[in-house]
Amino acid sequence: MDYFERFKVAPGSKVRLKEIDPAFKDGRKSRKAAADEIEHYGQKLRALQDLLYAEHRHSLLICLQALDTGGKDGVINHVLGAMNPQGCRVAAFKQPSAEELAHDFLWRAHKVAPARGEVVIFNRSHYEDVLVVRVHNLVPKNVWSHRYERINAFEKGLVEHDTHILKFYLHVSKEEQLERFKDRLDDPTKLWKISEADYKERGFWDDYVSAYEDALSRCSTRHAPWFVIPANHKWFRNLAIARIVVECLEKLKMKYPQPTVDLEHIRREYHQAKQGKG
Ligand code: AMP
Ligand code: MG
Repeated sequence: MDYFERFKVAPGSKVRLKEIDPAFKDGRKSRKAAADEIEHYGQKLRALQDLLYAEHRHSLLICLQALDTGGKDGVINHVLGAMNPQGCRVAAFKQPSAEELAHDFLWRAHKVAPARGEVVIFNRSHYEDVLVVRVHNLVPKNVWSHRYERINAFEKGLVEHDTHILKFYLHVSKEEQLERFKDRLDDPTKLWKISEADYKERGFWDDYVSAYEDALSRCSTRHAPWFVIPANHKWFRNLAIARIVVECLEKLKMKYPQPTVDLEHIRREYHQAKQGKG
């Protein structure tokens, strides 16, 4: 079975994160054992993104959501690292500004959605408005509870404009999160990532799990599926995501555009120039 089907949240199904193993690695022993595969999908990713950019017809939106230390930054580094920076961009969703709060919640997402030919990664996304907002009661329930349908309709609109949407939830265990906080404390290059809030949010773990389960269950649609990616092993997480993106792009049967110029004419001119006659 391809990874697209394997990790997809079936539309209409009820996700129970407890039943999904965050340490799954699909029979592979180690990062080393998977190195060739990782390289293979990285190269494919690059070739397909080049095609997407050249064809200028489709676009790709990748949404990344996770609890703190889930690995969003790592995925961005890995997936975008395989691509040509021309035609790719990351949009980060922080606490909304006053201007953003003065608009409806989808405004800031729509503004940074990909144009034809582009790949955009949302580092967090419009889903924060049914996650952190719900967990901390930042708006009343009768406001956030209508947002799932708004999100589905918004995403459908993007899909009708040839945007392909892949949404990844990076699934780490609570124990793994603790390890990663510890790693940050021990690594001078990671200290800057530590915020008081992260530890506080850990106390809301179960509330986040419920909020995620609802978002994944209610907003995994045929046109914009959610994927639950086992993410305790960073290399497996990267491999699974690269493979799903490749599988999605391969289905598009993209083609380089036909040349719009008379190639024979240009070839003749080239040869004449080479012979000093041009
Ligand atoms: P980071 O991604 O670690 O830089 O943190 C960004 C922070 O902004 C996280 O704590 C998010 O939960 C928070 N955030 C993102 N979107 C929203 C939102 N719509 N409302 C409130 N907080 C948000
Ligand atoms: Mg953070």
